[in-house]
Amino acid sequence: MLTRALPRVSIAHLPTPLEILPRLTVRLGGPELWIKRDDQTGLATGGNKARKLEFLVADALAQEGGCDTLITCGAAQSNHARQTAAAAAKLGLDCWLVLRGSPPSQWSGNLLLDHLLGAHLVWAGDTPPGDRMIAVATQLEGEGRRPYTIPYGGSSPLGAAGYVAALEELLTQCAAYHVQFDYIVLASSSGGTQAGLVVAARALGYSGRIIGVSVDLRSDALRRVLSALATATAGLLGLGMEFAPQDFIVNDDYLGSGYGVVGELERAAIHTLARTEGILLDPVYTGRAFGGLLDMIRRGTFNRGERILFWHTGGTAGLFGYAIPEESECGPRRVC
Ligand SMILES: *Cc1c(COP(=O)(O)O)cnc(C)c1O
Repeated sequence: MLTRALPRVSIAHLPTPLEILPRLTVRLGGPELWIKRDDQTGLATGGNKARKLEFLVADALAQEGGCDTLITCGAAQSNHARQTAAAAAKLGLDCWLVLRGSPPSQWSGNLLLDHLLGAHLVWAGDTPPGDRMIAVATQLEGEGRRPYTIPYGGSSPLGAAGYVAALEELLTQCAAYHVQFDYIVLASSSGGTQAGLVVAARALGYSGRIIGVSVDLRSDALRRVLSALATATAGLLGLGMEFAPQDFIVNDDYLGSGYGVVGELERAAIHTLARTEGILLDPVYTGRAFGGLLDMIRRGTFNRGERILFWHTGGTAGLFGYAIPEESECGPRRVC
């Protein structure tokens, strides 16, 4: 195992299922579609941050004198914040979440779960949440607490190590199932997921292509983030590999009206996967990435005989933060 030297706590439900999407594959007439169910990792409704937190929380606990508080930051509907709150509760730590903007009138989706999980919330207003998080950590230290700060999206080299281990998990499943994937497609945002997968792919000689569908950054900006993070992650693991922006495939065609703005692409993708396979996508990340995948298939990006894995990164709770009320123009009973 590439991550064997790193401390790790076992808090995610692993391995996650690897499943074929038979009805959707037939409906589209190929390529053959599979899905990796990281929406089933546990930690209060699942998602990719659980794998990152196995390494981040272990590092927090390994700090000199230990740590008694986890702090992180993100958007109001941050899945990462919710999974960090769940990890803290599970390990008996305090949790502070610094969220962008001001409190909404309705507490739904991830925000409701943050509250149920006992996290303390700080609204950053116009201050960048990352800056505010540092101020909160300093304040807590002043009060005699021992806080451990986790960066946005958990995307430090330690967090990305979760996805180095995840690719190893996938390759073990591939060997057992006698399948190989020509492409892996996933939603990419703060970069830890894609960077970890690409580091492991190079270290293990995996030859499939890994396509990140960007949900908020332009391709050149995200590829710079990815290359720096992948190089640092490889360094942490003692692999001695350097990465450049051109080592990453990022598709930024599906940014629509920006981060977290749900459009027809996401809506159609959520409905399609729910109604053909009974699997839920989220409005912000996986809805966009899967919508992008369906569009790429329609445009003939892949050969019919190829095999594609969609890496479901979770976000289910976010779905309930985006339910549209009955009086909306979408009409009654229409979610997202
Ligand atoms: C955070 C998140 C992502 C993006 O992962 P990064 O490692 O930040 O690129 C994708 N999907 C969901 C559901 C997420 O919560």
